[in-house]
Amino acid sequence: MDCLFCKILEGEIPAERVYEDDQVIAFRDINPQAPFHCLIIPRKHIATLNDIADDDREVVGHMIQAASKIAQRQGFDQDGYRTVFNCNTHGGQTVYHIHLHLLGGKPMGWPPYQDTLKTPVNN
Ligand code: AMP
Ligand code: ZN
Repeated sequence: MDCLFCKILEGEIPAERVYEDDQVIAFRDINPQAPFHCLIIPRKHIATLNDIADDDREVVGHMIQAASKIAQRQGFDQDGYRTVFNCNTHGGQTVYHIHLHLLGGKPMGWPPYQDTLKTPVNN
């Protein structure tokens, strides 16, 4: 399968792993948006949030729990952190293997987009 994150899982493309277990791996984002920024992905290829089947619910919960474990290990669980799933074009998804962004190490601010982008678009 021609999937960047499956290739990272297989070790065909290098990545700096920060966590792994039987269901997920996490590695540093190549273009970090915070002092700490990693991506948590399931070992199973699931293209988008829209493709999560009933049988996948456990692994998705596992991804979220992995985020809190990594935050704890990195030492920012109590200060707090941001987790993000982007879905499809409007969500800003660029890699079609679901991934949970974990960002920490500074206050993130809210909302996470510019005011000018609040206007609805038709496509
Ligand atoms: P998204 O835009 O939500 O699909 O997120 C994809 C993320 O993957 C972006 O934050 C990219 O910086 C990151 N990314 C792309 N290629 C790599 C790579 N080879 N290793 C690590 N992160 C990557
Ligand atoms: Zn994949």
